Amino acid sequence: MSAVVLPFLHRLNRPRLGICASVLCCVAQALLGLWSNPSKSRRTGLGILGVMAVKLCVFCVGIQTGELDFVAAGQLVVAVYDRHPINRGHVLVIPKRHAPDLSSLTRDELVEAAIVAQRVDRALRVVLGVEVEGTNLHMSNGSSAGQEVLHAHLHVIPRSAGDGLELREDLSRYPQPPLTPDERSAIALAISD
Ligand SMILES: [Zn+2]
Repeated sequence: MSAVVLPFLHRLNRPRLGICASVLCCVAQALLGLWSNPSKSRRTGLGILGVMAVKLCVFCVGIQTGELDFVAAGQLVVAVYDRHPINRGHVLVIPKRHAPDLSSLTRDELVEAAIVAQRVDRALRVVLGVEVEGTNLHMSNGSSAGQEVLHAHLHVIPRSAGDGLELREDLSRYPQPPLTPDERSAIALAISD
């Protein structure tokens, strides 16, 4: 794995029409596969749907076309500016490969994402100075956790006192039922595997 983060130098300028045609073609293939041939295996249909997920994913399309606002690229991940920044300098670290969430990342993708996030953190502090008193690293996994784009991404959010962003615990939800001893043992075992 290369830990070197290089400026993103090679944007591809594929016409938007090409992407639209590609998406429509993929949808048509999926519909044909699933509806016009019911005897076709479920596996084939799911495979086509998997391809559709990638084709329709805004991050996959943005990485492919170069239409995201890139700040840096590594071997396995890119760093882009969030289109709706919570604070100035809000960056997303995204694997180049379509991986839905944290559990889908390879070890190398995870390591490179962490390294890039740290470099983004350092760069923001150096360049933006007192505007960045701290950062939050935030990752949502699954729709119920608030993940809006189902392609794994790690937020690096610059923070300063009084910036208005609040990450508060809801104390009214406590106490939660504790994990059983069996659950604790099973979780520890699963982590060590
Ligand atoms: Zn994707």
